[in-house]
Amino acid sequence: MARAISVVHMNLWETVEVEVAHDQELQKIVVALQHGLDDYPGYFLHNGQLFYQGRAMLPANSSQIPLLLTESHDSGTGGHLGFFRTYKKLIAAVHWCGMRQRVRDYIVGCHTCQ
Ligand SMILES: [Zn+2]
Repeated sequence: MARAISVVHMNLWETVEVEVAHDQELQKIVVALQHGLDDYPGYFLHNGQLFYQGRAMLPANSSQIPLLLTESHDSGTGGHLGFFRTYKKLIAAVHWCGMRQRVRDYIVGCHTCQ
């Protein structure tokens, strides 16, 4: 219980960092980078955080993805833009596997947009 509360108080990037540390696939990439291997083109580490092509890398099951989708699509600045503009906002900052489809599904499921 105490653990769940502390997670709520962590900011998005701290949470993502913890999630990356617990993601087996992404940890393989982190370890390779820490050993100076170039097995994963496009990836790099900065201050302990994993980036892909300059964008913060998230596990595909990250708890922060719903928040990012809300922020980019339907919060005050979101404005319920269509797929392309919502996706463009997101790819400026983050990347996760299956991102394109996840954004598409989110907008299809948005009640305000229907
Ligand atoms: Zn919408």
